[in-house]
Parts: sequence; C-alpha cells; structure tokens
Amino acid sequence: MTSAELTDGAHLVVDALTLNGVDTLYGLVGIPVTDLARLAQASGIRFIGFRHESSAGRAAAAAGFLTGRPGVSLTVSAPGFLNGLVALAEATTNCFPVVQISGSSERHIVDLKQGDYEELDQLAAARPFVKAAYRVSRAQDIGRGVARALRTAVSGRPGGVYLDIPAAVLGETLDADRGAASLWRLVDPAPRQLPAPEAVDRAIELLAGAERPLVVLGKGAAYARADEVIREFVDTTGLPFLPMSMAKGLIPDDHPQSVAAARSLALKRADVVLLVGARLNWLLGHGEPPQWNPDAKFLQIDIEPTELDSNQPIAAPLVGDIGSVVGALVERMKPGQITVAEAWRRELAERTEQNTAKMAERLAADPHPMQFYGALRAIRDVLRAHPHTYLVNEGANALDFARNVIDMQVPRHRLDSGTWGVMGVGMGYAIAAAVETGRPVVAVEGDSAFGFSGMELETICRYGLPVVVVILNNGGVYRGDGVNPASADPSPTTLSPMARHEKLIEAFGGRGYHVESPVELASALTEALESGRPALIDCHIDPTAGTESGHLTNLNPSVAVRPSGTGE
Ligand code: ADP
Repeated sequence: MTSAELTDGAHLVVDALTLNGVDTLYGLVGIPVTDLARLAQASGIRFIGFRHESSAGRAAAAAGFLTGRPGVSLTVSAPGFLNGLVALAEATTNCFPVVQISGSSERHIVDLKQGDYEELDQLAAARPFVKAAYRVSRAQDIGRGVARALRTAVSGRPGGVYLDIPAAVLGETLDADRGAASLWRLVDPAPRQLPAPEAVDRAIELLAGAERPLVVLGKGAAYARADEVIREFVDTTGLPFLPMSMAKGLIPDDHPQSVAAARSLALKRADVVLLVGARLNWLLGHGEPPQWNPDAKFLQIDIEPTELDSNQPIAAPLVGDIGSVVGALVERMKPGQITVAEAWRRELAERTEQNTAKMAERLAADPHPMQFYGALRAIRDVLRAHPHTYLVNEGANALDFARNVIDMQVPRHRLDSGTWGVMGVGMGYAIAAAVETGRPVVAVEGDSAFGFSGMELETICRYGLPVVVVILNNGGVYRGDGVNPASADPSPTTLSPMARHEKLIEAFGGRGYHVESPVELASALTEALESGRPALIDCHIDPTAGTESGHLTNLNPSVAVRPSGTGE
C-alpha cells in the first residue's frame, strides 16, 4: 500500500541534513540548487549565501573546525563545483570536517560527453582532492548518501567529502513514507579511539628518560576538544610546550611552560618530542636538522596511523583520539615519573627572556609611516582587552608577524592560512566564525591576501556580521616597492599604491576607517569591535616594510632576474 503523499529529492536532502543536526548551509545558488537552498531556509536551516564558492567552502570548513561537526557547503555544477573544490581540498589537507554538496548535470549526457550546460564528471574530478567522494543516483539513496558523507567527514582523521547529487535526483519524486523511512540519524558520528596500554607505557618511559623533553601542540589537538586533559597533562608533568599557530590559546600563550618565544632553541635541543595532533611536515621542518636535534626521538599522538613515520621514525606511536590518548597518559604515568630537569627549564627560560626583550624593543618603535610591528602592537593590545574575539589571519608578513605578536588566551579562536599556507581564506573563515559563534571576529589581512576573498565584504554586510577586517596595507604582494626594470607596467609584486580599501565596505553599508598610526588603529579597532557591526580598517603601512615571502624566503628558487635584451 502506498500513501497518497509524495516527496522529492530536494526535500529528502533537507530532511536528511536536519535529522543529522546540520543547521547552516554555506553556499551560492544557481542551476540546479536554487530551490534546494530555498527549501532549506524554509525548513529552518540557515542559508548563508556567498559571492564565490571558494569562500563558501572555506566557511563550511572553518565551521567544521570550530564546532567539531561537519560544515556543509552547497554549489552549482561544473564551475561552481570546481571553485568549491579548492576549499574542499584545503579542508582535507587541514583535516577539517566538511561536506560539499553540488548539483550536477544529467548523467547520461555527461557520460557520453554530449555537451550539457555546465557538463563535468564532478565525481571523478573531486576524487583526487578529497577524503572521499560519493554520488547519489536515486532519491531513495539520499539518506544513505548524506549519512555516509557526514560520517566520513568527521570520523577518524577529519577531512573534506564531496557529495554529488544530479539535478534529476533532486527532482525525483517518491512516496513520502518511503522517503522518510530511507533517512537515518548517525549514532556517535566520531567514535573515540583508545590507545593500547603498552603503547601508552612506552611513551611514558621515553618521556621519563628524557633530558630535554618537548610537547608540540598542533591544530589537531585544538580540534580534538580535549582542552582540560591536555592542560592537566602539561601542568602535572611541567613539560615545556610549543603551540602551532592554530593551537595557540589551547593553553593560554602566557602560560609559563610555553616556549613559543624560544622556538628555535626548543627544536634544536629537544631530545624527546611528543607531537600532539601536529604533523612533522614542512611547518616543522620535517623533523630534520639543522632545525632539529639529529638525535631527537619523536613520539606522536594521531588518529591517523598512516601519518606516523611519514618524516621521521616514530619511537612511540600513540594511535587514537587525543582526548583518549592524553587521558591514558595522565592515568598511567606514576606521580613524579615525568619531570623536567632544572637545566633545561633554565635554558628555555633564558632564551624566552632574551627573545621577549628583543620583541618588546621592536614593538616599542614607532616609525612613520607605520610598520607591521607598530600596527600589530596596537591590535594585540586591543585584543588583550577582548580575549574572546576570534582572530583570522592571512598574508605573508601579516601572517608571520601577527602569529608571533598576538597572544591567544582561549582555544580554537585563531584561524589562519593553515597547512597549505593559503591566501584567500580570510573572509570565508571570518564569516563562519561570526555565524557559528555570534562573537566578534577580527581578520588581520595582508592587502594582497585580502584581495582573494574581498568581495565577501558584501556578504558580511548583508548578514550584518560582527566582523572587523584590518588590512595591513603596504601596497603589494610582500611589499609595495617592487620595480619593473623593463617597462611602465607595475612589477609582479606591486598592487595599487595608497589603495583605500575602507571605501569597499562603505559601498555595502559597513563602516570604513583609514588609519596611519598605531594610536589611530587602536581607537578605530576598539570602536569597531564595540559596535558589533561590519567594519574595515585600512592601515597604511610603509611600502618598504615586509620581506619577500615572509618567513619562507628559503622556499623560492634562486633566479637572477635580468630584463631581456641585456645580453646576459
Ligand atoms: P599543525 O599544522 O597545527 O601542526 P596538523 O594539521 O599538521 O597540525 O596536524 C593535525 C593532526 O591531528 C593530523 O595529523 C590529524 O590526523 C590529527 N588529528 C585531528 N583530529 C584528531 C583527533 N581528534 N585525535 C587525534 N588526532 C587528530
């Protein structure tokens, strides 16, 4: 017997998402997903509409990191899908849980390459870049497809999942009761994964025998939401710790055991290193000399067993979720078993003191035009008074300097260019932080980095989000004094000198400021933050300030650039 009521694919997608607690979609509409977005909104899911799919995808990825539940983005077919795929690949690299749902063209036309509107084999295109890619080919499989996509995104090592839904499936009708019965809600989407006791004891013994131990906290540790047990482990052992950029604030940056200010020394000298949700990738110099002590032993906590031994031998693999593993370390270590030698503590403290003094000197200088440090001192001071503000940060120098200058006091309040070092995450991440938390967000942006997602200022204003964009504007990529020796064209690193970015936000009804000194910046930022309204502060920075590629100059191949025709 069938009921008289019918449902369709689009309703089932919305119902399946709602059933699994998805309350926000980040997307950009068009054929064939416009009605899906309308329906989602009408059904109580918040739809945040963007100006470019890569920002929507980045927002969904940031939502995943900030909430521990998969963020979901929605795009149209082929070009929209591909725009979103960039963000999905980044999320996979960053280990953020996110699902991109894209509408797609008719299968029979795509598969015979007959030439459809926005024709692309999206499933095949997505596969190399994501944790998993699935297609739903029948409306009756939508519940299964959504459940599978959400489960895959958030369980084990989190990552990006692509879910392809052809237009015909969105429009396919089926019996409403049968449709409802085809949906399910995930039980325990990201189950805990406990380590074996002998693996824990092995790690404890190595730490107990260390002369110069070090703990490195990565963004996996921040994501794991194991804040209390990590804090207990660090406090009871007294181990020095180094936070990677997005782990800043997991334990407050002013904690006496933080060795952030003695980073180089800590890496070079540590003999036993416990990595907690941090990979030994390029960001940690692959664990190799000269950055690291050649005799260092690495211990690694990670949910992904294939991560271990990717760069260096792992003397104590601890496979499991960070909460369970650190909990087991705390439970199984004997009181006083892990200690830190006074000599090592002193060595680190002395270097911290020296480096902090050098930094204080740089921050105290007040040159005109303003330089990065002057601007960042002002931002740091305002944020210290507003410690629950979310901080988004991208750029070259704007990223490298801000990471060192701006302390974080609370976990998961810093979002930045991440594992790939991506420019363009700024507005998407800022929007997600504001939407998901309702709290104020400050995005500290290089002028070049900002350009990649700048049009999302309109999105920020349209939704009235409490986002303050601070542009450290030195008029160029890296710096604003690039020279073209051959013609009147601007050099490759030159952007519009003296661009007044604040006028961009004024076009959409936001508040714009232009500042030329740290005092003006502090006052504008305070006012903007306290207003809770969209604002943009254009900070005029000396065009000669900044280093090519920031701290990554060494990654550029060495090329001698000479204009053609010079005979060399
Ligand atoms: P960072 O860039 O801050 O050093 P990475 O992104 O390189 O951090 O490393 C994060 C690591 O954390 C990844 O290898 C990932 O598998 C791991 N991870 C993510 N979530 C968890 C979790 N809940 N438990 C254990 N490991 C996790």
